[in-house]
Amino acid sequence: MSLDRLPGPLREVAEHLARLPGLGPKSALRAALALLKMPREMAAAVGQSVLTLRERLCLCGTCASLAEQDPCPICADASRNREQLCLVAEWDSLLALEEMNLFRGTYLVLGGLLSPLDGVGPSGLEFDLLRRRLASGEVRELILALGATLDAENTASHVKNIVAQGFPGVTVSRLAQGIPMGAEVKYMDRETLRQSLLHRQAV
Ligand SMILES: [Zn+2]
Repeated sequence: MSLDRLPGPLREVAEHLARLPGLGPKSALRAALALLKMPREMAAAVGQSVLTLRERLCLCGTCASLAEQDPCPICADASRNREQLCLVAEWDSLLALEEMNLFRGTYLVLGGLLSPLDGVGPSGLEFDLLRRRLASGEVRELILALGATLDAENTASHVKNIVAQGFPGVTVSRLAQGIPMGAEVKYMDRETLRQSLLHRQAV
């Protein structure tokens, strides 16, 4: 479906929305029409909230998660166990783990997975931050919660090398292998995630 024949202002909104993940031209048009039908104040609130999104959010300098303050509430929480550091690829995996209310350690959000085919190399991810966290000497166990995809496996071996070369005192473990191959942490159901965290394995 082409958006070319839409009236200009509608086409503009639909084209912006069509760049969002999961929205093709058809659903982008549907969303644009829904915005058009909104009362003016509500549409203004939507626009304003998109603008303030960038201004109000920052990356936590300790764990690289999205937050309103740096350090984020998790890193600022003195009751969290700093000896356990859980490494996740994306921020929504952190949310999935936090939702379980089971893990009381801290996190680091890598910002993605190594993916040579997509041109994502080590410099595009938060490995320097990881090195700094490990160099602080607080971390005893690094828990890999990167999922079970091929990119996750590659990223896990890269992390294992970093630890083996620079931080031999740190134990590396991973979520238990009950995770179905190809699974992403954020899509796992609560019980699977709980079990895989409880029965994590040394690597
Ligand atoms: Zn943080």
